[in-house]
Amino acid sequence: MANIFRGIAASTAAIVKGFSVTLRNMLRPTVTENYPDEPVHFEDRYRGVHVLRRDENGLEKCVACFLCAAACPSNCIYIEAAENTGEQRISAAERYAKVYNIDYNRCIFCGYCVEACPCDAITHGQGFEIAAYDTNALVYRKEQLLEPAPSRPEPKTAPPPPVAGESLLRI
Ligand code: SF4
Ligand code: SF4
Repeated sequence: MANIFRGIAASTAAIVKGFSVTLRNMLRPTVTENYPDEPVHFEDRYRGVHVLRRDENGLEKCVACFLCAAACPSNCIYIEAAENTGEQRISAAERYAKVYNIDYNRCIFCGYCVEACPCDAITHGQGFEIAAYDTNALVYRKEQLLEPAPSRPEPKTAPPPPVAGESLLRI
């Protein structure tokens, strides 16, 4: 008989303990993200789809050194280098990445490419909605990864000189 009472007391204590955790958490602020109805909040170090950066002059930071591709454990970065010319300058250095692909079928978002880059040319962004039915769509090209070029301010034009006799015409 004593064992039965001990069992009932132990079960009751376990239930009370369990519900106390539930009640405590009911009163705390919710941390659930209501995606996709509300925007997702990312931590600063979130590793999403990569972004190829530009410098303060709008030139591409990537100098096609291949260090990111060498550091990638998944072998999913493909680069083709090209030389800058006097007529066409893409990066501030001698070379730039004419082709820069990342195969997100294979990328494990380890961040090694970002750490290997000596120019801070590649970083992780916050993109994550990359699911696709077609694996070809997961091979991202440079055009998809590259940061948009900064918009140049409209050149200020001087107001047109007043036409002779204009002030008289306005009166
Ligand atoms: S995050 Fe890792 S796996 Fe993905 S491209 Fe960079 S080095 Fe390769
Ligand atoms: S992203 Fe960085 S490491 Fe990769 S090729 Fe360009 S400059 Fe080199």
